Amino acid sequence: MIKALLFDVDDTLLDFEETARLSMRDLFEKYDFPFDDAAFSVFQAINRGLWQDLEQGKLTSEELHRVRWKIIFDALGIRFDGERFEGEFRAGLAEHAPLIPGAREVLQACKGKYVVCVASNSSVDQQMRRLRLSGLLPLVEKFYFSESVGAAKPSAAFFAFCLNDLRLGKSEVLLVGDSLSADVRGALAYGIPVCWYCPQEGEIPEDAAKVPRIAALSQLMDIIGRMNAE
Ligand SMILES: [Mg+2]
Repeated sequence: MIKALLFDVDDTLLDFEETARLSMRDLFEKYDFPFDDAAFSVFQAINRGLWQDLEQGKLTSEELHRVRWKIIFDALGIRFDGERFEGEFRAGLAEHAPLIPGAREVLQACKGKYVVCVASNSSVDQQMRRLRLSGLLPLVEKFYFSESVGAAKPSAAFFAFCLNDLRLGKSEVLLVGDSLSADVRGALAYGIPVCWYCPQEGEIPEDAAKVPRIAALSQLMDIIGRMNAE
């Protein structure tokens, strides 16, 4: 029986791509760097690669923050202090919190029925501010951030911390997230139920084929209902 829900934040409850685009756009305008879809695509590709390295333990978040904009500026041919820009970019990320469609409604529907938690690999200050800005904060009961937990998704240590804190067993906690590597495979390896939020069509890897999948957050309550009926 599912008693608690662990929601990933970026690209599950809050639209990280749009948040990053807005922060990058604001700063590129400030410094008069050319900003367009191609420049944002360069950010997306490099950022995605760095986050994969982070999830695989090849990189710490401090290292990611140190090198991210240096690599992006090198790729874009812009001469600027990447570390200084990183600080401003991250401050900018905290200023935008566009919602994923249905995020508020799904948390409202879950509140009172389940312990609603967030489980995120991003920094505490930034995510708390964004959850507040988005209006989701009052709908969340517990907060698990890699920074404060001392381990990141998909590591077993991260999930063990959450379950221990919730005093719940593995079959009682459902993870909801968009990342195949951090959320889906993390939950599968640790042995807790998972619902894959996957709004884009695409190939489904074999190991994730049996995982309940939703294309819209509004489908989540049905999935939980079905799990609890089994
Ligand atoms: Mg995510």
